[in-house]
Amino acid sequence: MTAAARPDPIVTADNAFFWEACARGELVAQRCGACGAFAHPPRPMCPRCHSTQREVARLSGRGEVWSWIVPRHPAPIGFAEAPVVALIALDEGVRLVSNVVGVAPEAMRNGLRVEVAFEATAGGKAVPVFRAMGRG
Ligand SMILES: [Zn+2]
Repeated sequence: MTAAARPDPIVTADNAFFWEACARGELVAQRCGACGAFAHPPRPMCPRCHSTQREVARLSGRGEVWSWIVPRHPAPIGFAEAPVVALIALDEGVRLVSNVVGVAPEAMRNGLRVEVAFEATAGGKAVPVFRAMGRG
């Protein structure tokens, strides 16, 4: 059995909305209620205008690989094989660190178009991962 026991996310008061959306199969981000700037990871105050008005925006889940690595040492906890860890630049302008699944490291490249999927964690929560677009 090679199924990963992906670790659960660390849920805080600021990011709970993000993980609750993942459990519903939705990718969202915090957006400033005053100036509209996205802020990811979520934070109490807008980094652009310092407003504390926060709203949640649903994202397309589509974007491209900005950069990526395969962390081999030390072996990542909860993975049968080292995952592809990538910085994903979403079409809305938000960047987030995630995994690319279903793409061999030899086939990885910056600019690869990807879309979100969700994978279960050891404790029954869900985290976003990304797959190459057009590969099912
Ligand atoms: Zn703002």
